[in-house]
Amino acid sequence: MNTPFKTIIEPFRIKSVEPIRMTTREEREQLIRDAWHNLFTLHSDDVLVDLLTDSGTASMSARQWGAIMEGDESYAGSPSFYRFKSAVERLMPFKYLIPTHQGRAAESILFTVVAKPHHVIPNNTHFDTTRANVESQGATAVDLVIQEGRDPTSEHPFKGNMDIAKLERFIDEHGVDNIPLCMLTVTNNSGGGQPVSMENIRATREVCDRHGIPLFIDACRFAENAWFIKQREEGYAETPVIDIIREMFSHADGCTMSAKKDGLTNIGGWLAMNIEDWAVDCRNRLILTEGFSTYGGLSGRDLEAIAVGLEEVVEEDYLRYRIASTEYVARHIEAVGVPIMKPAGGHAVYIDARRFLPHIPPLQYPGQSLAVELYKAGGIRGCEIGTAMFGLHPDGSEQPAHMDLVRLAIPRRMYTQAHMDYVVEVVAHVFENREKLRGMKFVRQPRALRHFTGRFDYV
Ligand SMILES: *Cc1c(COP(=O)(O)O)cnc(C)c1O
Repeated sequence: MNTPFKTIIEPFRIKSVEPIRMTTREEREQLIRDAWHNLFTLHSDDVLVDLLTDSGTASMSARQWGAIMEGDESYAGSPSFYRFKSAVERLMPFKYLIPTHQGRAAESILFTVVAKPHHVIPNNTHFDTTRANVESQGATAVDLVIQEGRDPTSEHPFKGNMDIAKLERFIDEHGVDNIPLCMLTVTNNSGGGQPVSMENIRATREVCDRHGIPLFIDACRFAENAWFIKQREEGYAETPVIDIIREMFSHADGCTMSAKKDGLTNIGGWLAMNIEDWAVDCRNRLILTEGFSTYGGLSGRDLEAIAVGLEEVVEEDYLRYRIASTEYVARHIEAVGVPIMKPAGGHAVYIDARRFLPHIPPLQYPGQSLAVELYKAGGIRGCEIGTAMFGLHPDGSEQPAHMDLVRLAIPRRMYTQAHMDYVVEVVAHVFENREKLRGMKFVRQPRALRHFTGRFDYV
């Protein structure tokens, strides 16, 4: 795309619209009170701009909707499966492909087959469902991201990188027999989608090869990661994104994937690998828990939508717009003084609520207070990622989380720049009035995953 103009337009136009029901501040104050100040309890049609997650929220294209009509719902051997298979193999040429209804089903099948109670699994950072699936086998999930990846102010271009020295030490310490595989999550979800460099993928591969440990990629945001490599890594500026993607996966023995992210669909996922013994066991497990091996818990039309989504997500105009729109929100809210995690990742902007609200102690959930205020002020729904989510331990004790953040995740192809300008304006308004925000407390909380169903009030 060669143009003398600096504005990056949405590379699509809109042919089907979903109305947003406008609400007033007074209405929203009542709605959030009725929802016990828990944003997960709100009805989504009471939200103006929904930035709760980028998962499964993408707008599908006219081509995807057209492909849905081509879905063949045969139980076995559907042509929709073979279209899905060739779309996946164009990007990730693994020998065995197992469709699943979403990413965590692929993780569950993989770890049920390969993980044993004495095992330890290294990853740059396990996503929460990945960690839960490792731990449900009695194995231990360990995060070995580079130091800069844990520092919210570091501008390192590849904050998702694996710490190679730590990985070496980890393998020496635990022994190869206790490490069935090593994982790399691209982009690294925690921190808003920080990328992993090709050099780091290669270096991780070398360490794994030296010890005979298979390398699996958690591929959810593979296209966004490839775009960052093209933009930031020496030697890739002229490489087509699709070649970058192929190279990324050429260094791996397998992958897990949620099509709800870079599949540009509302449901779906897969597990793919080159290891025959594992693939046979995984396929049997699939048939037991998800469905036959040519549909894996999906309908034929879902497989068709994924096949088209995988062509669209690697288009460079799409990726340029996608990463620019996240960076746009980050840059503009930072310009008014709002503390954020840096640099902006691929799919989300994280506001540092602890620095935004220094007068609210972590055990009074500054992230929750900020997330609730963004809803009251502008009908924006973000997500607390902090002490309300992580502060409660299995023994019942409570400690401040490592950070108190509010995540604004950007759905793919769903909102326009005007929506994002509105988000910026609302965040700036709340920031100007930040002294008025008060701390919160739980009035009822379940023992685990309390952020989903717990009830809050102001202290
Ligand atoms: C979303 C996600 C998963 C799990 O996928 P689901 O489709 O939500 O089950 C796994 N890993 C990462 C990095 C993710 O972002």
